[in-house]
Amino acid sequence: MAKQDYYDILGVPRGASADEMKKAYRKLAMQYHPDRNPNNPTAEHKFKELNEAYDVLKDDQKRSAYDRFGHAAFENGGGPGAGAGGFGFEGGLGDIFEQMFGGARRGAERQQTGADLRAQVEIDLSEAFAGVKKSVRVATRVSCDACGGSGSADKNAGADTCATCHGAGRVRAQQGFFLVERTCPTCGGSGRTVRNPCRVCSGAGTVPREKTLAVQIPAGVEDGTRIRLSGEGEAGSRGAPPGDLYVHVAVRPHEIFQRDGANIFCRVPLRMTQASLGGEIEVPVIDGTRAKVKIPAGTQTGDQFRLRSKGFSVLRSAQRGDMYIQVAVETPQNLTRRQRELLEEFENEAKGNTTGSPEHEGFFAKVKDFFDGLG
Ligand SMILES: [Zn+2]
Ligand SMILES: [Zn+2]
Repeated sequence: MAKQDYYDILGVPRGASADEMKKAYRKLAMQYHPDRNPNNPTAEHKFKELNEAYDVLKDDQKRSAYDRFGHAAFENGGGPGAGAGGFGFEGGLGDIFEQMFGGARRGAERQQTGADLRAQVEIDLSEAFAGVKKSVRVATRVSCDACGGSGSADKNAGADTCATCHGAGRVRAQQGFFLVERTCPTCGGSGRTVRNPCRVCSGAGTVPREKTLAVQIPAGVEDGTRIRLSGEGEAGSRGAPPGDLYVHVAVRPHEIFQRDGANIFCRVPLRMTQASLGGEIEVPVIDGTRAKVKIPAGTQTGDQFRLRSKGFSVLRSAQRGDMYIQVAVETPQNLTRRQRELLEEFENEAKGNTTGSPEHEGFFAKVKDFFDGLG
């Protein structure tokens, strides 16, 4: 597969200054960064390409080799004196981004902070209305009790400066004819190693554990909301801060109510006679109560009645939306003999071909016009 030109990837001319390239890189890195493009393989690929290109071009030595030999300078057995391995980005994408935007110090801290965790809870619409406390089980890592999280079997020994990287957290390795920097494999970037590792956690300072957490889900929560529990992610290694837990809330669809923001819609079937004569019906409310709705005589399918403040709770507010009752007039089925007699009598009473509703009259007037128009 032909590789794209590094200058083209950055969108800069071959003679571009270091400053121009840095600007171009920052702009594109922001655009394609995985945090901004979750589950987007194209963006991820572009981000990798971009980092690879910039990694070469920002380095005068690598850049001049690239200008002379092209991609061959960095391929396995490609350029003169090239060793095994070629270029690697073992530090990971986030790592590269941290170096660029966060500075080396923050980069080193980041590697020790515990990982963020994700959990999912599913709740009913009525739970979303009232708010609910749910427990979530997560497989996480917690601080090791045996060593107090230090990773060392001997609490007084503490940690030594890592012999591989001399505390820097990063090592340089000869690859091809360049020195390539990457996260220290011995200490994982922390810059420290434990002389006498704890036997329970093998020096990590954390152990895997299933944890159950209570999550308070607020009233008015929407389907797909993400709740962040700060510090409830995995414990950091050797006393570093823990990550966060993100709880995704899924709200199950309801059989009676449909929600639209703070409003609730409820479709209620009406008997033909109720709709025609008018009356009062009782409807369910999301808060578990019942409400009465007056149905005027002559109500049609699709007519809507509003019940103020009987809708959904509004997040972080005492307010509620409205409920809309949408009626559907139903044709009677499975008639008894007596019902049939009554309806036949009703039909015989009908004033010609009409139900008495203005829409109905209008329709047959238009039908007459249609036939008259045909001549
Ligand atoms: Zn090290
Ligand atoms: Zn331990």
